[in-house]
Amino acid sequence: MPSFIPTKPISYGRQTITESDIAAVVETLQSDYLTQGPKPQEFETAFAEYIGSKYASVMSSGAAALHLCALALDVKQGDKVITTPITFTASANCVRYCGGEVVFSDIDETTYLLDIHKVRALLEHTPKAERSAYKGVVPVDFAGLPVDMQAWRELADEFGLWILEDSCHSPGASFLDKQGVEHRAGDGSLADLAIFSFHPVKHIATAEGGAVTTNRQEYYEKICRLRTHGITRDPAILQENHGGWYYEMHELGYNYRLTDVQAALGIEQIKRAETGLQRRRAIARRYEEAFAGTPVMVRSVPEGFHHAYHLFVIEIEKRLECYNFLREHKIFAQVHYIPVHLQPYYCGFGWKRGDMPVAERYYDHCLSLPMFPALTDEEQEYVIGKVLEFVG
Ligand SMILES: *Cc1c(COP(=O)(O)O)cnc(C)c1O
Repeated sequence: MPSFIPTKPISYGRQTITESDIAAVVETLQSDYLTQGPKPQEFETAFAEYIGSKYASVMSSGAAALHLCALALDVKQGDKVITTPITFTASANCVRYCGGEVVFSDIDETTYLLDIHKVRALLEHTPKAERSAYKGVVPVDFAGLPVDMQAWRELADEFGLWILEDSCHSPGASFLDKQGVEHRAGDGSLADLAIFSFHPVKHIATAEGGAVTTNRQEYYEKICRLRTHGITRDPAILQENHGGWYYEMHELGYNYRLTDVQAALGIEQIKRAETGLQRRRAIARRYEEAFAGTPVMVRSVPEGFHHAYHLFVIEIEKRLECYNFLREHKIFAQVHYIPVHLQPYYCGFGWKRGDMPVAERYYDHCLSLPMFPALTDEEQEYVIGKVLEFVG
């Protein structure tokens, strides 16, 4: 076997930056606008087209996108919102930003996604009088496997809930509905709102950055206003008009803008999104092939679902030892995620170990292996070799 030794650590995920990315950023730095110029809108148009939604609003981070969605959905004190414990904390935090209550529900045994049957049972077992406190659900396309949004839409309509899809892991993922129609993650066809992140480990990088996609014009407009201080210049909305400088603030907003410099990077990145996705899928196929019939467990993708592979998760005995072994060999695998209900902040609301047995069992064994388009075949074979060496 050729003895390849990595010269620097191979992380679980990382960005790809090309000469054209650098040129676009430099060109923007030399232009008239570092922020509030034309680039964010150009990026928005390209992103909406890629995702397949009517509208996209880009902003400073995925967490900012979640916050503005929670505001647009009018989350407030006393409202209950359901989400999964196997996600990044931001999926839950957006509910708390608005004073709502986070209700965790366990994941599915085979997909790692929020278990729709358990959510249905939770709602059905809640006395009718208390059921109206449940306002919405935040399903997460964990690792890049999209949720069955048709099923979620049916459940949400039955119980009068809204759906905010956390699609940070799944740009380019899709599934076929019962009629055989393809829905891309976050395309606005079924969920009310969806959010994405442009953090460097995600599919499209702008350093920090995020987006909301939707087909609902009223949500889109509100989110765009909240992104810039709640300010509007739209003549149709202004109560007065004193001249060209005039604007009005009608609601409390934030500065969650994405800069032109970041958007310029995003515009270049999106041109490679499809090839990056194909590369991720090829890497996944190689891992699956290499681990078939070994003690390294990989869950299969349900039929009709097209995975986007933000993460490649294995489940393994002696996970801590495996993590340390890989690290000694310059492979920086990672764990996604520490169940959110076990974070001390959420334990403060009464959540505890034992509440989400499937998620907790999953957490004890999961490990995310390197998965990013720039991972070379040589590096991947090295990773596979070390994992197999560990399991013996
Ligand atoms: C990355 C991520 C976020 C937050 O994105 P930021 O841009 O880092 O704020 C939210 N949810 C999930 C599932 C993520 O992976």
